[in-house]
Amino acid sequence: MGKEISGSATTGIEISGLSKTFTVGRNTVNALDSVDLRTSHGAFLSLLGPSGCGKSTVLRILAGLDEPSAGSARINGMSPEQLRGGAELGIAFQDSALLPWRSVESNIRLPLQVAGLPAEPDRIAELIALVGLEGFEKAKPAQLSGGMRQRVSIARALVVQPSVLLLDEPFGALDDMTRQRLNLELLRIWTEKPATTLMVTHGIGEAVFLSDVVAVMSPRPGRVLELVEIDLPRPRTPEMMRTPEFHKLCDYLSELLFGRGGVV
Ligand code: ADP
Ligand code: MG
Repeated sequence: MGKEISGSATTGIEISGLSKTFTVGRNTVNALDSVDLRTSHGAFLSLLGPSGCGKSTVLRILAGLDEPSAGSARINGMSPEQLRGGAELGIAFQDSALLPWRSVESNIRLPLQVAGLPAEPDRIAELIALVGLEGFEKAKPAQLSGGMRQRVSIARALVVQPSVLLLDEPFGALDDMTRQRLNLELLRIWTEKPATTLMVTHGIGEAVFLSDVVAVMSPRPGRVLELVEIDLPRPRTPEMMRTPEFHKLCDYLSELLFGRGGVV
């Protein structure tokens, strides 16, 4: 509280007093009520919380897709507007949101075109390999499985080599095995070039596995209940998911989310 860090090279996400009220007809919804969050530059933060607690609203405000009612949000010292203007941002949503008439490589190239940057063929090929889609360069989204479409959307989020990554339940709609595999891919990609990341998720295990910090949110109004530091060593390996330390963190988060008796 009261600390003046803005534009600092060591600050990642910096949210203070963030509130958001939606008005629908005569009803108002307090989606967020004075949310405070702070991470360091390059840190991986996950937002965990029940449906409707304001996770996507936080992400949309950070991405400059929504305006706060009060408070402020900055990432890597930039305002959401600056962030959007500078091709520093990679973003992926739950539904892959690909353009159906464009091929895999052409969807991945899109953010570069929008930013007026050159699309080096090597770079696109490298990304396609990174997400394991070699041979599908010319395929249209309708010809791909759900998991493959999500991988295209991750590749698209990474194509500008963003210093900020915003992921809204990127693997939410997928089966557990695909999800697990994509989490490992995401971890590998993030480890190669750590971007200041915010990932919204329902998965306690994946939040612990990937994150430096997990913020647990409570609903109506959306607040941050607790920031939980994930002090597992890096590099993270799948074997860590079987350690007592990992399970202890998962149990702790699940207690915060559901209470001891499993009641919200
Ligand atoms: P989460 O992502 O955690 O499920 P959201 O951030 O999507 O939650 O929504 C938080 C609350 O704000 C919910 O009650 C939701 O109904 C409401 N809300 C979100 N976006 C809008 C909108 N554009 N108009 C009205 N209400 C909204
Ligand atoms: Mg959401």
